[in-house]
Amino acid sequence: MDGLLIGPATRRQAIFASVCAFAILLTLALAAPRARDTLPAIGPFMPMCALTVFTTSGIAAFLLGARFAATRVAMLAALGGAYAFTAIAVALQLLMFPGVFARAGLLGALPHSAAWMWVFWHGGFPLFVIVAELVRKRLPGPAFTRERLDARGWLLIAAPAAIAALLGVLVTHVDLASPFHDVEAVPALAPGAAIASNTAGLVICALNVIAIALVLLKGRLRLVLDLWIVVALLASLVDTSLNTLSIERFTLGWYVARVFSMFAPGVLVCVLVWEVTALYRQLAEEHASLIRAAARDALTRVYNRSYFDEQFRAAFDRATRSEQPLSLIMIDVDHFKHYNDAFGHLHGDACLGAVAGALANTLADTHAGGPRPSAGFVARYGGEEFALVLPDTGAEEAAALAERARQAVEQLGMPSPASGGLVTVSAGCATRDAVVATSPNALIEAADAALYAAKHAGRNRVSHAGASVV
Ligand code: GH3
Ligand code: MG
Ligand code: MG
Repeated sequence: MDGLLIGPATRRQAIFASVCAFAILLTLALAAPRARDTLPAIGPFMPMCALTVFTTSGIAAFLLGARFAATRVAMLAALGGAYAFTAIAVALQLLMFPGVFARAGLLGALPHSAAWMWVFWHGGFPLFVIVAELVRKRLPGPAFTRERLDARGWLLIAAPAAIAALLGVLVTHVDLASPFHDVEAVPALAPGAAIASNTAGLVICALNVIAIALVLLKGRLRLVLDLWIVVALLASLVDTSLNTLSIERFTLGWYVARVFSMFAPGVLVCVLVWEVTALYRQLAEEHASLIRAAARDALTRVYNRSYFDEQFRAAFDRATRSEQPLSLIMIDVDHFKHYNDAFGHLHGDACLGAVAGALANTLADTHAGGPRPSAGFVARYGGEEFALVLPDTGAEEAAALAERARQAVEQLGMPSPASGGLVTVSAGCATRDAVVATSPNALIEAADAALYAAKHAGRNRVSHAGASVV
């Protein structure tokens, strides 16, 4: 569970991430030459993208914070901080953007406020990924107490969010010059567009490249997280590159950049959700296999006593409700003490395994003969004693099956020091509609009594409660 996101990446994940990275770079290569081509203007496209970035970044920050809470891996908190920063920065940029919520933007936006928030948003994300990579080295988990690491970890998430908010205050209170120094006046409605051919775009691209290099150097793409953070950074790099190339809004480069701005946080959310879903499926499978294993007897692999206790009672209740017969066969290995004395307990164990197998096969063959609404089962009742529970099975049918089971054990041909020379079993059958059985215990006692009748009658035979020896 702790391996979620920070577990080793599988080959399949590596291939898939490589395909995504290739697709991102291919898109850049295809879009770059035509980045300035004008496309039809879709006014709501920018606010829609910004809202998506805000939502997905918020979710990514929350999920990474949750992973930090579960694992105490500081790098997860720091990455959560990178996404928390993005969420706040993009939200402020959207609110300050002229013409979206108000003509001049909300929050007392100054002419260049939204442009600066765009720069901070795009520069902050790779910057905080770089912080996360530095934290990866400086905060090895075991060196700190749980409480101290907790506090520092939560700070790693909260501080970037607070910094984004403070930057928002800065750009609305200080009349900063345009971040795009070589552009005279930033077109108020196109802060992203004006970034062309200026240092801000190049600095942001450089930050993305440094962040990618750090992840590659430090993580060596071993972890699932490393793979997808590189993909997210590539998307962020392409976003900035295309914005740097295309001057105007509603150009091909501008549209593609917006799509990639959504991709950077979206990819991590998708991976997290995918991983959680896969983990849930794996847990469900392991839980089911644990349940199955817990119901089996370790030595003989047939069902164990606790399964018998639970299921026999349930079968009895079903039979009472449906007024269908229910048969129980108790089977005991004859003179098994002599067998152990003669061959040792290890051989005795193997013998019990073989007997259990013969009983299970007899039941399976019987079921294979025709459809039965509710299947029976074999359980090890205790020691060298087994129980066959047979729902919807009448007395005659149960006696016949017990006889086949007895023969099956005899036909194993296992030598025994007892008088017959072979390992044999005795069986006692009882059927719910053949005996006056008012409770599951009464049926067990009836089958037990029949078993001891078979023992007293000379062993290696079948006896039925209230019937003569077969
Ligand atoms: P009977 O025909 O009357 O049933 O004679 P028996 O010797 O089989 O009966 P008894 O109850 O005297 O002995 C049962 C033996 O089964 C004694 C015990 O050591 C052996 N036994 C019980 N559980 C195991 C087991 O898990 N492995 C082995 N090897 N022996 C077991
Ligand atoms: Mg015995
Ligand atoms: Mg016994």
